[in-house]
Formats: sequence, structure tokens, C-alpha cells
Amino acid sequence: MNPIDLKQKDKQYIANTYGRFDLCIEKGANATCKDYQDKFYIDFTSGIGVNSLGFSNQKWYTAVAKQAENLNHVSNLYYSEPCITLAEKLINRTGFSKVFFGNSGAEANEGAIKIARKYSYDKYGSGRSTIITLVNSFHGRTIATLEATGQEHFHQYFFPFTEGFRYAKANDLTDLQEKLDGSVCGIMCELIQGEGGVNPMEKDYIKAVEKLCKQNDIAFIVDEVQTGMGRTGSLLCCEQYDIHPNIVTLAKGLGGGLPIGAILMDEAYSSVLKPGDHGSTFGGNPIVCAGANVVMDYMTDSLFQQVKEKGHLIRKSLQDIPEVVGITGMGLMLGISLKNKKAGEVAVECMQNGLMVLTAKEKIRLLPPLTITESELEQGLEILIKVLTVS
Ligand SMILES: *Cc1c(COP(=O)(O)O)cnc(C)c1O
Repeated sequence: MNPIDLKQKDKQYIANTYGRFDLCIEKGANATCKDYQDKFYIDFTSGIGVNSLGFSNQKWYTAVAKQAENLNHVSNLYYSEPCITLAEKLINRTGFSKVFFGNSGAEANEGAIKIARKYSYDKYGSGRSTIITLVNSFHGRTIATLEATGQEHFHQYFFPFTEGFRYAKANDLTDLQEKLDGSVCGIMCELIQGEGGVNPMEKDYIKAVEKLCKQNDIAFIVDEVQTGMGRTGSLLCCEQYDIHPNIVTLAKGLGGGLPIGAILMDEAYSSVLKPGDHGSTFGGNPIVCAGANVVMDYMTDSLFQQVKEKGHLIRKSLQDIPEVVGITGMGLMLGISLKNKKAGEVAVECMQNGLMVLTAKEKIRLLPPLTITESELEQGLEILIKVLTVS
């Protein structure tokens, strides 16, 4: 099918909820892909942080294909090896006690909220169910996670939202302390706000949040849906903040291109959910977990080192461009503030020149595959610099 037909049918049949770039991708390998007219693109987006190993990584594809051939799905009524293996790897690598598998980031966050509320209910009874999140956060698109998202424009149309969320200003401990009363059972935050504009939290602030949670016996939930799985140069971004939250949520990069979400729970929170309290039909699906197991096997110190080095290379290449006024983020999760240009327009121009980039608020956002080669990186940067330099 040619791309003109594809675009026409997309418009005709798919609900119009996305502003798409004018690009139909046919095929890809690592951080390079091509459209139906054989024009090549360098990918600095990873399908929004999902393709941690790039497009159709050979080991990932082989494991997924083999699993699909052997056993597609068994349901959570039976034991399933790929899921058990993945759980073992995640628990052994992160130091958490238990994991629950779902299908997406929003779903993982919903589960985390449930765990925080039930922990509190079991121990203190009702009346202690508020979750504090941060202004400018993003936690998902379900009714509860929309309300958890600390951005006003997500709180429209879909009333009534679930109650029990309160927003504190990021990096402002006083504001947080003011909002923390006896009704609070958890604090949920990203360490680098992704959709909110690639805004890293200050280390001192996050350490203080951790301490506040401990002192008040409330759940410290870190949403690592975007920052997790090597994205920032360590398996979890938490490691670089030197914190041990009660609950961490993962999704995007974990499956390497297949839908998965995970809730990691520490010892204290690991037995809050009892049989019947939570579930997911697709959660722990063997094919998805086979892919995630390959992603886990890539999570080595040497990969993390490369993620950091590639991040530095991007920063070094861009920092002296007059149009670039600042670069935020860690590892291969970077936000670029622009002087005059509009991020959306730069993203379109990049695409026309053979480079896929994302935006986050007013910034250009880069989330290249963790496995991007130096050559792909340089080709992409050349295009980005060209677009940022022409007037
Ligand atoms: C993308 C994202 C989500 C939502 O994940 P979905 O898989 O789209 O539900 C939640 N939290 C953060 C930090 C994200 O970046």
C-alpha cells in the first residue's frame, strides 16, 4: 500500500486523537528506518522511549518470534516461565521484593496508587488516601492517572475524576510540607519530568521527599515509566539519586517495543495486594516477557556507560549552537531549550531532513535508542545542527 492510501485510510478509520508527523515508516534497524519511498531517517525518539534496543533488534526479535511460535499466552491462572524469569531478573537487579506485571505506564501507576492506599487502609483505617503528585508531572491517561497528573489542562471534560490527589510544586520542600497532612498516604513523582518538559528534580529535594515519606509512613512512589530501564545511564534513575522508594513503576523501555508495565514493591509494600485485589488479563504475557528478558540482558554497566557517553556527546555537539539556550536531562533523555525557534517546527524540519525528534512543552526532546551507534548519532546530530542553524 502506498503512503497516500495509508494516510487517507488512517484519517478515515482511526479516531483522530494524535497529531501525526507526515511520515509512514516501513522498516527499521537500530536507530535507522526508512519510509515507503526508501528515504532514510535517524531515530532520536525510540517510539517515545519504548524501543530501548532500537528497531527490531536481532536478539529481541529472535526471542519474541521463538516465544510466539511456542506459546503465545497462558493467562495468570498458570505459571509462566518468561514472566517468572523476568521477575527474577528485575528483583535481583533492583533490590525490590516483588513485582506485578501489567500492560502500560498508566496501568502501573494505577496499581501503585492502589497499593499505597491499601497499605494505609490496612494499617491506619480509612481517611488516609490522598496522593501528592508534583506540578507539571505526567502519570497517564486513565481517569485516575489524569487526575494524578499535575497539569490543569489534563483535568478537563472527563468529569468526575477520582478524588484524592493534591499537587505540590516541584523542588519546593516547603510547599510539599504544607500539603502533607494526616490524609496523605503517598507521594508520587518522576525524577525527570518527561512530558512536562524534561525537568530533572534536584537531588536534595528528592532525598528530603524520601525522608518525609519514611517519617510519616507514607508510600514513596517513583514513576520511572520514562526514566527507567537504562534511559538515564543506570537501570533505574533512582540509583543516581541514591534513593530507595517503596514503589517504582516501569513501562515504556521495558518491553523493547511490546506493551508491558511493571510495579516494583519493597518489602513493606510487597504483600499489600492479596489474591483478588488486583489483576490483568494480559499482564505477564509470555511473548511480551520474552522481549523484556532480552532488554534486561542488555542492561549492563558497559551499556550504561555508553548511554552516559552518548548523552555527553549530544550535549557537547549542541551546547555551542547559538539557537540552543540550555540542555536538561540525563543520559539519553535530553531536553533542548531553544532561543527563537518553535520546537514543533524544528521537529517537522528535522523529519523533512531525515531525523525524528520529539518535543516536550517548549523543548526539543531526544530519546534515542540506548543502542544507537556513534555513526547514527553523528548523522542525526548533523541534521539537528543544520536545522537549528539555518535562519
Ligand atoms: C508515558 C508515561 C506514562 C504513561 O504510560 P502509558 O504506557 O502511555 O500509559 C506515565 N508516566 C510517565 C512518566 C510517562 O512518561
